[in-house]
Amino acid sequence: MAMSGNGSAAVPAEVDVAVVGAGFSGLYMLYRLRELGFSAMAFDEAGDVGGTWYWNRYPGARCDIPTTDYSYGFDPQLEKDWTWSEKYATQPEILAYLQHVADRYDLRRDIRFGIRITAAVWDEASRRWRLRTSHGDEVSCRYYIMASGCLSLPKTPDIEGVDRYRGEVYLTGRWPHDRVDFSGKRVAVVGTGSSGIQCIPLIAREAARLTVFQRTPNFSVPAHNGAPPPDRLARLAADRDGYREAARWSRGGIPVELTDVSGVTAPEDVRRQRFEGAWQAGELFAILGVFNDQGVNPVSNELVAEMIREKIRAIVSDPDTAEALCPKDHPFGTKRPCLDTSYFETFNLPHVRLVDLRRTPIVTVTEAGINTVEESFEFDAIVFATGFDAMTGPLVSVAVTGAGGVTLEDKWEHGPATYLGLMTTGFPNLFMITGPQSPSVLSNMVVSIEQHIDWTADCLQRLRAENLDRIEPTPLAEAGWVQHSRDCADITLYPRANSWYMGANVPGKPRVFLPYIGGVDAYRRACQEVAENGLMGFRLDGPAGARCHDGVIRRIQPDVAIVLDLMASLGLPPVETMNVADARAFAEATAATMPPGPAVGEITDAVLPGPAGDLAYRLYRPPSAGPHPLIAYFHGGGWVLGSQHSDEPFCRDLCLRTGAVVISVNYRHAPEDRFPAAADDAFAAVQWMAANAAGLGGIPGQLTVAGWSAGGSLAAITCQLARDAGGPDIASQLLLTPVTDCDLGRASYSGNGEGFVLTAALMRWFWDHYAGEADRANPKASPLRGTLAGLPPAVVVTAEFDPLRDEGEAYAEALAAAGVPVRHIRARGHIHTSLTMVDAVISGAPVRAEMAEALGSFRPAPVQI
Ligand code: NAP
Repeated sequence: MAMSGNGSAAVPAEVDVAVVGAGFSGLYMLYRLRELGFSAMAFDEAGDVGGTWYWNRYPGARCDIPTTDYSYGFDPQLEKDWTWSEKYATQPEILAYLQHVADRYDLRRDIRFGIRITAAVWDEASRRWRLRTSHGDEVSCRYYIMASGCLSLPKTPDIEGVDRYRGEVYLTGRWPHDRVDFSGKRVAVVGTGSSGIQCIPLIAREAARLTVFQRTPNFSVPAHNGAPPPDRLARLAADRDGYREAARWSRGGIPVELTDVSGVTAPEDVRRQRFEGAWQAGELFAILGVFNDQGVNPVSNELVAEMIREKIRAIVSDPDTAEALCPKDHPFGTKRPCLDTSYFETFNLPHVRLVDLRRTPIVTVTEAGINTVEESFEFDAIVFATGFDAMTGPLVSVAVTGAGGVTLEDKWEHGPATYLGLMTTGFPNLFMITGPQSPSVLSNMVVSIEQHIDWTADCLQRLRAENLDRIEPTPLAEAGWVQHSRDCADITLYPRANSWYMGANVPGKPRVFLPYIGGVDAYRRACQEVAENGLMGFRLDGPAGARCHDGVIRRIQPDVAIVLDLMASLGLPPVETMNVADARAFAEATAATMPPGPAVGEITDAVLPGPAGDLAYRLYRPPSAGPHPLIAYFHGGGWVLGSQHSDEPFCRDLCLRTGAVVISVNYRHAPEDRFPAAADDAFAAVQWMAANAAGLGGIPGQLTVAGWSAGGSLAAITCQLARDAGGPDIASQLLLTPVTDCDLGRASYSGNGEGFVLTAALMRWFWDHYAGEADRANPKASPLRGTLAGLPPAVVVTAEFDPLRDEGEAYAEALAAAGVPVRHIRARGHIHTSLTMVDAVISGAPVRAEMAEALGSFRPAPVQI
């Protein structure tokens, strides 16, 4: 490689790959690049290797992932040669490990220390990046890799008067190399995140007086540090490769057993037992996994949160201090929880005091100390443990200008957009290691780092082998990944917190959930599929020509994907291979495993007169005082399965969201009663409800007819029959993923015909049971073939991965064309069954909210009588 610049630490004018950072990421990246024969150079502002562990030298700094797991797994020999002395190693030990790695693989010769990359410009003509260093050198590289860490740019304390202070000032993220002696000093610590919580007990040991300024109390659990856990060491010794592989395919980068215990349904003794177990384990993934629903269900989450608060109250002697230390403004886990050693106990020491900034905010830092609205404090030293401009900060702090002259900072003005957290459109050949929208900070970082680096190294090798030299994600692929990342976050409680995960700790930073929360395993699978599908979603270019297999790698809602995976793992026989009795028993058994749905005011069972005998119905009444609008509801089940209570969770949800009395009717089923029995029953039921509206607690004139799937078809048909019969008056219709036509040749039948629960084969089975060929085209079976003018306003919901999607869409379009007011809601990433899986598929909730809002918009004023 050509060299220029400063002597023995010469900076090359040209390399294949330039890497920013010499921490865990940069070191392994260099190792892989060298192994593959690329010329590579890494740059780090620090004086040596270590990254985070170079800078964060504050007392008490340790990892919060067991060090046996927080280690490289790429070289078994390295693992055998290194022994950790503690469960959670200290900063000096981790730094020594990284120095050992640098020595062992002779990496330092390709690292330039004390050098910062200040600017990077993409040159399209040469297809290279031009980098400028803080020493004024220029480096040209084909590929530019930001291995600069997620938490490497400390946030300047945004406190009035901070520059005025004349005493000693320390920033945890930029701690001096020489030992800081706090003996006999009056010390302040501002900030109670992981850094503050780690250093406070140790500073308290030395300081004459310690005052902790806390803005937001944080959840913390005892680390129970000590020797590395023998059970883990034994597992590693027995099968090191198996253990590492299990980590790679785990949810968080550590092999832990996931629980199926729900906080909501578990008995109190089981809850306590699980919580105590996690508290004693002293591991983040244990306390984050007490219940399987604590990350998504506020009730379950609050159980864990309150049990932690109980612990805090039991540890801290002064009740006011204890209460001030109890976090109450965010769900547990939605801000990074901490592992501590004697943190809460520290507040029992007579020389340690907590200042609650929520009660007495800081007014200013003074020359001598800190003034709050109530008091003036004087200090010999102030420690700012005030955090980082996380994830995006280190990336945009370099002036990166991509193709077309746009800077990364400008592109990400409203939040980062990446493909797989690895690359971003408009910035060809720029790779980010553990970038935004990758699991990174929500996982064992080392596992995620190795995965990103292996993927990147494999990609560069492949480009070279295929005579390509330019790679850039497509806008479609990137938008798809951003959407998927957001979908994953939106089903959790994480977006509710003002956390650095949300960018909320930096004034003016866009409020966007930064990491990918879908899991290390799911993420790895996505990256693998992208690679296996011809680097799907990337535009590739070079001497060999240009090519692109464009597409979106994940379109299914994440919780729907979990349901599908679960069902696939059960290996259940297809319903259409069963006889009708077995199919009904199976459907009932499946429904019984679902959460029951929200509590409503009242549920009653009764019968109404049908054309061939009584029809059972179940009525769901809102808790508010009536009268209410009425909804006649027809369940799904392909005319063959189901009953008045089979869609209970959905009916309850509908009742609460719309504030309507929902009456779910059990119409006659096929094959015992074939076409048009179900349609006749449905119409008769609606006539009866209209006639008895007041007695049912309904508001006259506010009757909606609703249904799901085959029940949606019955609802649509009922509206047509009512119009033709001159009554009853129907205010609106709600058709949820309805059957509207007997033509099974539409594109969604082939595209979504298999693998999404309702299959094309099952629909054929339903049709065969319900109606003969001659009857199917009858509008009483295929409402799309009826006359649509003059029908009540309609809310039509279609699901993207539903065989019935296209006929639902066709119905919505045909209604609109016939002059009927229509709200068509397209449920992105959903399947036929997922919108009714209340509390099981959380991503369905916003769709149901929109559905209820749309129904409300069609609601007429009450009829005055
Ligand atoms: P942090 O979690 O962002 O905590 C910063 C603290 O400073 C918060 O308590 C914050 O209060 C407070 N703060 C910020 N600005 C303030 C102001 N102007 N006035 C008063 N208080 C202010 O930062 P961190 O503790 O450095 O940790 C960051 C992340 O690094 C951690 O979440 C973790 O992922 C990682 N880390 C890990 C370890 C480990 O155990 N391995 C150790 C340290 C850090 P608010 O909450 O109200 O904003």
